[in-house]
Amino acid sequence: MKKFYRIDYKGSPRHAIEDGGTWRLVEGDLFGSHRSGEEIAPAGHRLLAPVLPSKMVCIGLNYKDHAAEQNKPLPASPLMFIKPSTSAIGPDEAIVIPSGIGRVDHEAEVGVVIGRRARHVKEADARGYVLGLTCFNDVTARELQQKGAQYTHAKGFDTFAAIGPCVADVDYQADGGVGVQGWVNADKRQDSSTQQLVFSIDYLVAYITRVMTLLPGDIIATGTPSGIGPLQPGDRVTIKVAGVGELTNAVTGEQV
Ligand code: MG
Repeated sequence: MKKFYRIDYKGSPRHAIEDGGTWRLVEGDLFGSHRSGEEIAPAGHRLLAPVLPSKMVCIGLNYKDHAAEQNKPLPASPLMFIKPSTSAIGPDEAIVIPSGIGRVDHEAEVGVVIGRRARHVKEADARGYVLGLTCFNDVTARELQQKGAQYTHAKGFDTFAAIGPCVADVDYQADGGVGVQGWVNADKRQDSSTQQLVFSIDYLVAYITRVMTLLPGDIIATGTPSGIGPLQPGDRVTIKVAGVGELTNAVTGEQV
């Protein structure tokens, strides 16, 4: 399985491909014409957010267990919202909680990274538009979410979309689904699988691209399973997606 990373290489951001334990720099555009270049060490690189999405299209209430936890009926169609590109951070960057916004929660999610321009994609063709999966933390100001009719305020803060550590070419269509977990410090708080999804990844690609064009590097955050809970400054929050790896971010309070 191939994994695509973005690393700080001698002071510049570069994409790298890991395949069977061997790391090589990408020469050219990962989403366009490129080839594998120089072999580099398999460890010791500072990891950056693996892609720079123009937008992150997120789906709410897409796990049967989470809808039950929120005492909400399953949606008849995907509940869709957008996180701004400016909310994205990578591995080991801090999630910064502004003061005075009330409870802030982690949401462990499977992120789907789009590999090529996608518009009016048929569900049966969706896999060909997906570069791979990543770990996604849809950090949410829960009290603001419950107060507002729209989610932009509650979910759009800078640093509230953690992505990484890589994009992995996971066979998400395989029987058994893809496991997703959320950990805070040493506590496993969320543990589920894409088998619990109300709307499948391929269905979402088709549904969203009937509305808008998805560009290379855009991310679909597919929803969170049950077990959401609050984050506090000083916590370390980890999202694990099977086949992708682990994404850890420290939580801090805002110093204004
Ligand atoms: Mg979410």
